[in-house]
Amino acid sequence: VARVCVLRGGATERTFAMLKPDVAKDSATVNGIKAMIDGAGLTIEREERCRLSRRQCETFYAEHAERSFFPDLVRFMSSGPVIKLELSGSDAVKRWRTLLGPTNSAVAREKAPKSVRALFGTDQQRNAAHGSDGVESAKRELSLMFK
Ligand code: GDP
Ligand code: MG
Repeated sequence: VARVCVLRGGATERTFAMLKPDVAKDSATVNGIKAMIDGAGLTIEREERCRLSRRQCETFYAEHAERSFFPDLVRFMSSGPVIKLELSGSDAVKRWRTLLGPTNSAVAREKAPKSVRALFGTDQQRNAAHGSDGVESAKRELSLMFK
């Protein structure tokens, strides 16, 4: 069985997705994004709704600590509930990033009009959802967010 999976597509991976405070409070939007996840052949293995502290956001986005937008990003991410998701599937990391679209929602509407950020995001910061950018960051983020 494992052999068949390997031959048919990419490796089965896990990735971390997070619906951000701009969309997590709206159940219709949450359901819309979940339907897109399902439609892309990804499975939601785990789901948790919570509100992140400023400290948790600072740790999660530590790689951006020196950027000018960091304080604003931390304020935004801790401003309301988020929905944390563990996704699995073939090439899950790349598949979810592709489904997300470019970081800036305005750019996403130009370049990937059917992406999550194009459909549900607002701008460069309020862009609906997060996705791990690689297998290693997915491991880090999953262990950070699901204790
Ligand atoms: P991602 O991997 O596509 O989410 O993008 P990054 O890792 O570069 O940035 C992390 C998050 O910070 C983004 O998803 C946005 O919410 C926010 N962000 C990125 N760049 C900017 C920016 O130039 N200005 C603001 N205000 N927020 C940004
Ligand atoms: Mg990133």
